[in-house]
Amino acid sequence: MQLPHVISAKDFTRAQLDELFIKASRVKKLLAKNYYQTDGSGHIIKDFLPSYLTERTMALLFDQPSLRTSSSFETAMYALGGNCVTYRNASRESSIAKDESLEDTIEMLSGNPTISVLVLRHPEADAAQRAASVSSVPVINAGDGTEHPTQALVDIFTIQEALGSVEGKRITLVGDMHARTARSLRYALSLYPSTTISMVTAEDKPRSLLEAAKFSDVLYVLRPQQENWSKDVEDPARKAQRIKKSLDKYYAACTVSNEVLAQMPENSIVLHPRPRGSELPTEVDSDSRVLHAVQGRNGGPVRIALLEMMHSGEWQRLENK
Ligand code: ASP
Repeated sequence: MQLPHVISAKDFTRAQLDELFIKASRVKKLLAKNYYQTDGSGHIIKDFLPSYLTERTMALLFDQPSLRTSSSFETAMYALGGNCVTYRNASRESSIAKDESLEDTIEMLSGNPTISVLVLRHPEADAAQRAASVSSVPVINAGDGTEHPTQALVDIFTIQEALGSVEGKRITLVGDMHARTARSLRYALSLYPSTTISMVTAEDKPRSLLEAAKFSDVLYVLRPQQENWSKDVEDPARKAQRIKKSLDKYYAACTVSNEVLAQMPENSIVLHPRPRGSELPTEVDSDSRVLHAVQGRNGGPVRIALLEMMHSGEWQRLENK
């Protein structure tokens, strides 16, 4: 049986996204209410979400830092009544520290009969695909060296929620196009052929962003992925100097300040997958079009909906639609 892995945003279908977003907004409404309903004397009378996944366990294996993705996957599993076994520093905490291969690790974890899904974050380009090739449960790519497909789900859900629809929107990606979030978002947006995607990078003149902002419904701001820069330079002082120079250029061309926001249409939004730095200064946060915090929190409902659909078979059913 072909397992419904979530490895690349290239594999998403429009039917999967449409159904996922209906479910996620329903979940979001439920979450906005109190977690439990009480009978007035403080006794819990009803859970807010059905406990679909009791006696199911998610294995979360992370080998790179994470806040939003790991916490929202873990809490999503708990919210559905399930459990988690978590390795947040997998190369230190699991037997990968004793040179166990990724393949052996995945094969062992996924073979545990209570484990029903495996969520992986790993720096290598093909890590999620390698994991899927040996796993006996579905693997979710929570960010590898190439893609971050569930972030694209969160991003598109947020665009649809804020602007009513994704169709016909002009989306400008700003910053480091090597970011895995940018790659997955572009793949997923190909399911909405009426959208226009443009880019502003550090190579552009500082005025380019001001011009692009005038014609953008969405500015999607990216962090400089400086941990991947100047890897070929060994001397630490030279490396630091090179990175500083590149950062100066980056911030000159790609900073979304209030001046940039002033150029944007009234009905537009600014997103950022976070963590953010000077490319999205806190001065913009009071503008109601700046939605990176809402976007981050949408990770919860979107991942609850995804886990529910994967476990119920619905995700797989909509794979060929
Ligand atoms: N948190 C996102 C990721 O893990 C974005 C970033 O780090 O730039 O890819």
